[in-house]
Amino acid sequence: MALQQGATIGIIGGGQLGRMLAMAAARLGFRTCILEPGKDCPAAQVANSHFEYAYDDEAGLQALARASDVVTYEFENVPVAAARMLEKQCVLYPPSRALELSQDRLIEKDFLNECGAKTAGYFNVENIGDLLSALEAFDGSGVLKTRRFGYDGKGQARFNRNSETEIGDIYREFDGTACVLEELIDFEREISVIAARDRSGNFCAYDPAWNVHREGILHTSTIPAGVSQSVADTAIETSHRIMDELSYVGVMATEYFVTCDGSLLVNEIAPRVHNSGHWTEAGCLVSQFEQHIRAIAGWPLGDGLRHSDCVMENLIGAEAESAHLKQENAAAMLHLYGKKESRPGRKMGHFTRVGPMQKNLK
Ligand code: ATP
Ligand code: MG
Repeated sequence: MALQQGATIGIIGGGQLGRMLAMAAARLGFRTCILEPGKDCPAAQVANSHFEYAYDDEAGLQALARASDVVTYEFENVPVAAARMLEKQCVLYPPSRALELSQDRLIEKDFLNECGAKTAGYFNVENIGDLLSALEAFDGSGVLKTRRFGYDGKGQARFNRNSETEIGDIYREFDGTACVLEELIDFEREISVIAARDRSGNFCAYDPAWNVHREGILHTSTIPAGVSQSVADTAIETSHRIMDELSYVGVMATEYFVTCDGSLLVNEIAPRVHNSGHWTEAGCLVSQFEQHIRAIAGWPLGDGLRHSDCVMENLIGAEAESAHLKQENAAAMLHLYGKKESRPGRKMGHFTRVGPMQKNLK
């Protein structure tokens, strides 16, 4: 059953993604309710109500389920037990299986390869012996990543023909934490696909974005991504296959490496709206946030077509402090997240510059 106008959407997580979801929901006539332990969080500032509970607090989850006609989430580290509990009590989208996979890089990569979405080579690493033999298999290079809780490049280390002593020194910090070693990919560029799937299985993708990182954090997303039509089509088809396999409902992001020979490898999936899709607010009639709300509400998906070329740039830490005063930003779509405190590496806002569309470019 499609949600009526005026229905309430529960959102787990009070960050900027929750804020933008709540704003999109409000524009469609919905009410929103945020579950987030932090006071005065970015999402609660623009929502109708705020339950200040930990994400695994049963009383908080029950209150959210009672208050909401559908519940969704804005980050992938929502405890799976909480998501499963909600699935029994109310409607939760995206499904808890998507959360579960995206929380563990090993399980995620096994799943992706099983559904025909190729990833970089990888090995499970539980101790230094596993690491040494995995590095040997990759000619001495690779990226070590914690299986859980990594974000913005945190929980990662790179190896490039290091000595055994160096490897031991680097590994010390990871010892006792479940990890994977990934093959180091010499990519030509990174792209992502933001796509939506509704309750009936209809699918709609935005044009891929070209993503450039700085110090492990997304710096810019550029659309068109500058890849061939066939790379763009293959990336979108791969995302479609993954989402069908998960009986996914909502917006999902898939990050890809485009290798120098034009082949595609999936880096990771995010079962939520995504930073590399922020440009859709400025470049499309229906943004990723509206699209997610439409999908989970049982409304028809919007049109994912874009009307402009876009470059989205993140404002990190102090960069956001004077962004609103800069003349050069006056022609851009500025978005600030209402975070009280700026810290180095913290995402504080972004802006999107738009320009006329270069036809036929993905
Ligand atoms: P984010 O939160 O930005 O998505 P994350 O912490 O989840 O980051 P990843 O996406 O796995 O981590 O890696 C961050 C970045 O590190 C990638 O976007 C890419 O630039 C680089 N990277 C990750 N894995 C590899 C790899 N196997 N080979 C080469 N570069 C890599
Ligand atoms: Mg990533």
